[in-house]
Amino acid sequence: LRLFALFRSFSVMADGKENHFDFIVIGGGSGGMACSRRAAQHGARVILFENKRLGGTCVNVGCVPKKVMWNTADISEIVNHIAADYGFSFSKPSFDFNHIRKRRDAYIERLNGIYARNLDNSGIKFVMEKATFVSRNEVEAGGVRYSADHILIATGGTPTGVPVKGGEFTINSDGFFNDMDKLPAKAAVVGAGYIAVELAGVLNSLGSDVTLITRKEYALRRFDELIYTTLEAEMTSAGVHMQHNSSVSGIEKDGSGLMNLTMEDGTVLSGFDTVIYAIGRYPISKDLNLKITGVETDRKGYITSNAKEETNVPGIYSLGDISGKIQLTPVAIAAGRALADRIFGKMEDRIMDYTHVPTVVFSHPTIGSIGLTQKEATEKYGANDLKIYQSTFTNMWYAVTERKSKTAYKLICQGPNEKVVGMHLIGMASDEIMQGFGVAIKMGATKKDFDSCVAIHPTASEELVTMV
Ligand code: FAD
Ligand code: NDP
Repeated sequence: LRLFALFRSFSVMADGKENHFDFIVIGGGSGGMACSRRAAQHGARVILFENKRLGGTCVNVGCVPKKVMWNTADISEIVNHIAADYGFSFSKPSFDFNHIRKRRDAYIERLNGIYARNLDNSGIKFVMEKATFVSRNEVEAGGVRYSADHILIATGGTPTGVPVKGGEFTINSDGFFNDMDKLPAKAAVVGAGYIAVELAGVLNSLGSDVTLITRKEYALRRFDELIYTTLEAEMTSAGVHMQHNSSVSGIEKDGSGLMNLTMEDGTVLSGFDTVIYAIGRYPISKDLNLKITGVETDRKGYITSNAKEETNVPGIYSLGDISGKIQLTPVAIAAGRALADRIFGKMEDRIMDYTHVPTVVFSHPTIGSIGLTQKEATEKYGANDLKIYQSTFTNMWYAVTERKSKTAYKLICQGPNEKVVGMHLIGMASDEIMQGFGVAIKMGATKKDFDSCVAIHPTASEELVTMV
């Protein structure tokens, strides 16, 4: 492959078009990496621009460091709340935040290196610069112009700013991974989505005193009701202070450097050494000089694209977080591969299927979800066309422990064949359980198909094939 790439670059230099490529990819995150590598596999001459770190959000400030911290929190729960009831004893365990931080960051650096080698091995030219459009088919980066027949914008997103006075004292999810050098004693997490719930859960399990502040009645209120009400009970019983229907109006530091949050109703929450804002993300599209291309964005700045990931300008594509579709790494990867297969692999029918995408929240306990919530299914089909199966129980893991945690499952079935149109899980291992059931639901499984599979005993997931 390397020889082929070398030969290809010589042959292009020979005809004086060394800065013209088949494919320009802007952004070296999940979507850009996957798309560029697949395009190169099809023989395209590809150049990729990344202005921060290869791997993008997921590898550097998202899924990967988050999962390492979730694993750390999981171990903390076992060591502090479970092990003794299983008969283990040891002197009071201590936790060194910087030890795992260093190991986590070293792992990410290894991944950055692997990503760079992958580009090299695929024969992709990589430029560590910010790319900006200078015409419809040209970008400029580091003072050099590059052109291509096809250009992908996969520039992702970044955390939304803090809309209140004193916002400069807070951190966001990037700061959680890049700047936090000790476990907070008392932390406030503001937000109600994936990130707020995940970071609040991690800190609480590691021993911080955590308050989760949401402006509405629940966190994750767009998930199925069974999920957000069970999560509410579980987070509360694990010790997170749930502060709902509350909005922060200002943040001040006191003489000792701790933060006081003034709420809109005038109450003050005080004594926080860390305040984390996780109120969503916005697209990185402003600095691309899109005006010169005619590529349109929506009101929020997302570079929208159709089912084929095509923007309104022929030859310019957008996918992943920047496109405003589903913001998950495997979605960006799958969309990127499908696009490259279509443009360079002559596979006309390769289109990303955005339906029935399974998703997991790495909360405590974890959540797995696919398809319609009960509310959405009722709106779509009407309550009379639905049959809901639901089960709430305690995982056998907790049978011998003082600490308990609930598991709750819901299947939403539609029509006379009881096709499963939604499945929602919360409880230990829901993250791992979801994937296999996702395959079944993607294949159109009915409740009868679920029931035809003999249960595996004793597991939590056996409940899913024995529901009545
Ligand atoms: P990104 O990964 O953001 O990559 C875009 C890249 O483009 C960036 O590296 C950026 O520096 C670069 N760039 C921007 N502008 C330019 C320019 N002009 N020139 C050159 N380069 C540029 N998803 C999951 O599936 N599972 C999870 O567990 C999960 N956890 C997450 C946890 C957190 C805290 C966060 C923030 C996100 C998480 N996500 C998770 C979401 C996931 O990270 C994103 O959906 C995914 O990274 C999107 O990939 P992308 O390629 O669209 O964008
Ligand atoms: P989300 O979009 O998931 O949630 C943000 C929430 O914050 C909103 O839904 C809203 O909830 C609340 N909010 C918005 N504005 C304000 C405000 N001004 N004050 C208080 N609360 C506010 O965003 P995240 O940043 O959590 O995550 C971004 C995306 O990244 C996710 O949607 C997901 O796609 C992806 N991700 C995936 C993960 C995974 O796969 N495990 C993990 C982390 C991120 P409400 O309206 O209820 O107040």
